[in-house]
Amino acid sequence: MHASVLIAGYLIVTLTPLVLSILQGRALRPFWDEISSGLAMTAFAILLVEFVLSGRFKVISARIGMDVTMRLHQLLARTALVFILIHPFLYQTPFLTFPVPWDVSRQLTLGLGIGSLASGLAGWILLPVLVLTAVLRDQLPYRYETWRLMHGVGAVLIAAMAMHHTLNAGRYSSDPLLAGFWVVLLALALGSLLYSYVIVPLKEASRPYLVTSVQKIARRTWELTIKARRGNELEFEAGQFVWLNLGHSPFSLHENPFSISSAPGNDSGIQFVIKQAGDFTSRIGEVSPGTTAFLDGPHGNLTLKGRTGTGIALIAGGVGVVPLLSIARQLDKDSDPRPLVLLYGNRLVDQIVYKDELRLLAGKDNCDVRFVLSEPEPGWSGLTGMIDRAMLDDVFGFEDASHWLYLVCGPSAMLDVVEKALIARGVPAHQIVSERFYYD
Ligand SMILES: Cc1cc2nc3c(=O)[nH]c(=O)nc-3n(C[C@H](O)[C@H](O)[C@H](O)COP(=O)(O)OP(=O)(O)OC[C@H]3O[C@@H](n4cnc5c(N)ncnc54)[C@H](O)[C@@H]3O)c2cc1C
Repeated sequence: MHASVLIAGYLIVTLTPLVLSILQGRALRPFWDEISSGLAMTAFAILLVEFVLSGRFKVISARIGMDVTMRLHQLLARTALVFILIHPFLYQTPFLTFPVPWDVSRQLTLGLGIGSLASGLAGWILLPVLVLTAVLRDQLPYRYETWRLMHGVGAVLIAAMAMHHTLNAGRYSSDPLLAGFWVVLLALALGSLLYSYVIVPLKEASRPYLVTSVQKIARRTWELTIKARRGNELEFEAGQFVWLNLGHSPFSLHENPFSISSAPGNDSGIQFVIKQAGDFTSRIGEVSPGTTAFLDGPHGNLTLKGRTGTGIALIAGGVGVVPLLSIARQLDKDSDPRPLVLLYGNRLVDQIVYKDELRLLAGKDNCDVRFVLSEPEPGWSGLTGMIDRAMLDDVFGFEDASHWLYLVCGPSAMLDVVEKALIARGVPAHQIVSERFYYD
């Protein structure tokens, strides 16, 4: 599905409440009352669609990338929060007065009963808590899995309260058509939770994997190989990632996203390169062969699929090399005739993974592999410093470089620099595909 179809679909869903309200043809209230209702309804629609955006649907993430999907999820949640926070203050009509003396016939407003006021107020207080605890997630004393559970439960509670408030206090939502729309949208939101937490795990359970080896391959970095227990390996595009669950029930929240480092169809199984970073990854070396694994995926759009370029540039920082390794291996396996440059940055020499394999690749006719170190040891003969504009000018200074395809993965700061530099070098934005490993 094209990204423009997704955007159009999103706008249609979130703006439908406004359209249905206008079509009701009711007498207009004071301007700010109407704005307040409009903002609240749009915010509620945004919040319900947030369930779908965070549901790891491939139809969305494979098109725009999981990091962009999550970024949208965050930005839209913040937009909805602003709408909701100002919603009660915009009313010019005193909605706390009950019964409403200025609308005895109840044509203008429904008036608020204590119940609908309480549900609205509770949602109004909980929503900023939900957003703040997401923004400050890393500073909270909870494991990622605990935070995820609290975030999900909090979101369901807010949706329930907002639904009660909307149907009981909303002037326009008392109309059966709009009320029906809210019910369908809420069902879709809850359906996407059901899909993520019941249907996907059931599918995972039917296709278990086994860990076949775990080896240290560089400083604080491990290679993990898994094989399908019953034949069929996962079908994926080089560059994609999965949520990997090692040794837990498929219904558990203990799963982490990791890119696949092997090329599709690798005989020895599906491989990952995992860097020790936190709770789970710092114990990756303790995982023993024979451990059961479950995969949710493949996800992501850092792939060659549907993209062209006269040459392929892979630009990696640290463990960001993993999806690009899969792509380099795939191109090598296919004997792709296009020129390939892998620019691979690290801090220290012992952080480089698969040095020998990459040197072999560099020896091939159309391939160039450039290692970059920001803290090189004496005698280092590769590039030094950070991957920046000057280095990109140097490495990609040839004539048709703006017609190449650039796949970029690494720390956020590096991605920002590289994307800006490539655009400044005249590379069209659609020829630059990047992926972030951290949804900040
Ligand atoms: C698309 C993608 C591909 C990745 N590929 C690789 C890879 O190939 N190799 C590699 O070493 N690392 C990769 N990462 C990073 C890796 O997922 C994190 O380092 C790992 O999840 C940290 O888990 P932890 O329990 O050790 O640390 P924690 O301390 O629990 O988490 C540290 C941070 O990692 C992130 N994180 C943890 N669990 C999840 C989760 N379930 N979903 C989303 N984010 C989570 C959160 O931002 C969290 O704040 C990738 C990340 C993403 C998003």
